[in-house]
Amino acid sequence: MNLKYKAIILLLAGLAASFVLINSIHKKEYDDSLGVRVPYVDQTSYSNLLEIKTTHFHLDIQLDFSLNQINGTQTLFMTATRSGASHLDLDIDGIQVQQVREESQGELKFVVNYPKEVVTGEQLSISLKEPLIKGKQYIFYIDYSVQNSSASSWLTPQQTASKILPYLFTQCESTYCRSLAPFQDSPYIKSTYSANVTVQDPINIFLSANLTSKIPHPTLKDYSIYSFRMDIPIPSYLFTIVAGNVVLQMIGERTGVISEPTHIQAYANELSDLELYLQTLENYTIPYTWGNYQIVILPPSFPFGGMENPLVTFASPSIIVGDKSGVQVAIHEIAHSWFGNLVTLLNWRNVWINEGLTVYLERQANLILGGEDNYLIDSYVGNNTLMDDMNGYGLNSNYTSLHPFVKGTNPDDSFSNVPYEKGFQFVAYLETVVGKEFLQGFLRSYLQKFKYQSIDHVTFREFFTEYLILNNPRKASKILTQINWDAWINGVGLPPVILNFTTPIVPETQQLAKDYISLNGTASPSNYDFFNQITLNAKTIFLQYLFDNLSSVNTAIIQRIDQDYQLSNSTNMELQWRWYRVTIKVGYNANIEQIHSFLGSIGRLKMISPVYQALVETNQKALAQQYFNEYQNFYHPIAVIAIKKIVQ
Ligand SMILES: [Zn+2]
Repeated sequence: MNLKYKAIILLLAGLAASFVLINSIHKKEYDDSLGVRVPYVDQTSYSNLLEIKTTHFHLDIQLDFSLNQINGTQTLFMTATRSGASHLDLDIDGIQVQQVREESQGELKFVVNYPKEVVTGEQLSISLKEPLIKGKQYIFYIDYSVQNSSASSWLTPQQTASKILPYLFTQCESTYCRSLAPFQDSPYIKSTYSANVTVQDPINIFLSANLTSKIPHPTLKDYSIYSFRMDIPIPSYLFTIVAGNVVLQMIGERTGVISEPTHIQAYANELSDLELYLQTLENYTIPYTWGNYQIVILPPSFPFGGMENPLVTFASPSIIVGDKSGVQVAIHEIAHSWFGNLVTLLNWRNVWINEGLTVYLERQANLILGGEDNYLIDSYVGNNTLMDDMNGYGLNSNYTSLHPFVKGTNPDDSFSNVPYEKGFQFVAYLETVVGKEFLQGFLRSYLQKFKYQSIDHVTFREFFTEYLILNNPRKASKILTQINWDAWINGVGLPPVILNFTTPIVPETQQLAKDYISLNGTASPSNYDFFNQITLNAKTIFLQYLFDNLSSVNTAIIQRIDQDYQLSNSTNMELQWRWYRVTIKVGYNANIEQIHSFLGSIGRLKMISPVYQALVETNQKALAQQYFNEYQNFYHPIAVIAIKKIVQ
């Protein structure tokens, strides 16, 4: 290494150090403006995260399906990171706390504080008998119960496929874990955990942890205690429960599917390539550390496509199409085993640290397994969804940035395609700057360095800088001045560099839509069968073109397309929601009953929100409300909140 490079390195190292400084210095560490103390490091938590940290939690709970209730004790093993605080503050949401004890201090007094804007629960503030001592370990026992918590979906036997047993599944991301038990409910905190869960026989149960034993309950007849353990530290949002008539069927050596027995064979067939996906992603990154990979196909009310709970990825049954075209979601969720679950976002302002990197990894797998065209079409379609969402927010909206403000709001409001697709484009842009192989090397080092930790964009940038200087000292300075980090991370609206993802299939598919429009419903284009030969993602380009050109589309054109492709009667939900929102906007009424039953057949927000939105935007708010009232008991509580915002 010669002196010139050394000088550059010193300069850049100085630059990197100043980022650390900017990041760590806030005017204050806590903000009181919500009426409850909120740490700046995660403004969606009410816990004093800077004073004390959970290192392990142990849940001893019973699931009561007759009352939709969880009762039990949360035990928090904590270490003080500073001396002096005379209270422990935790996040709760709708939880009734009966008693709090500490191992050496005995029973402790507590109060519940309510923030001015109640969006993410309440603060449980526990008074300590002695101030915290840095480095000292504490064990808190909190007896509590919670009924119909916002993370939980309790289904009656009638609402399940096999109709034999009730069913429970939980969804903690982003800030709902605090409704299952008292927690330091922030991704800033990662801990191991264990649990004993009591449940009536023959209900079976899985957690995002390894089952260690199942024994009959010593006093409750016909009840069992399931014990679990997770030895890799995880953030609270990855805690989950699924219970009901659910069974596991292994597919490969490490991979399996969990669901009600009714359709499990069909699910296993559709997901038969899980092991291949896992190996492909593992080869690209670093070894998979979680043991087995199992995917739970949930009842249709699950509000998302997938959720990356370790050991038990949750997935909507809408990903099971019959031709493996929907399993993209599975690849995405497996990719979270590295980005998100191993290296975790520091707080909900840095969602792209999870999602942007995961989409990048997911598309590397598509590239390896499906070729360049596949990668480009996915990225092109992803960009369409990004533009839809950014236009929906308005291009000047805070939520079009990769570092939005979420204080005093539900962080779910900022969840959109922005952290996924703008985040992906940022990583893809870095690839164009440093090269594909170099970026892969960087990502592997990044995973090794930050595994089991939570980081933000500043740490990402620092490490990128450090890695670049070390591994490409000749060009580091030039590359670093080229990247406009501030515009990418903090800027609102369009990405500062527009990447080109077009491939011949894009204009060909758009031309087909144009031909339908110019024929004005009088005839079909001569090559109309082309649509039946292209991939699902390419089909969505056709539908997107119609949606982007609604002013040129009329009911005669819609009727012609519907005749040719039977889209109103499609069973592929990815096509259905896109088609229905176009037909509603155009004023085509012939398929309103299909739309009606579609909204009651699936609770996946990505699919139902745009359809409700289209109804509201075409003066059919009353109809939207009527459908929502009919189905709101079927939807998950998270979906109810989101759809209410649209239809009210
Ligand atoms: Zn994701």
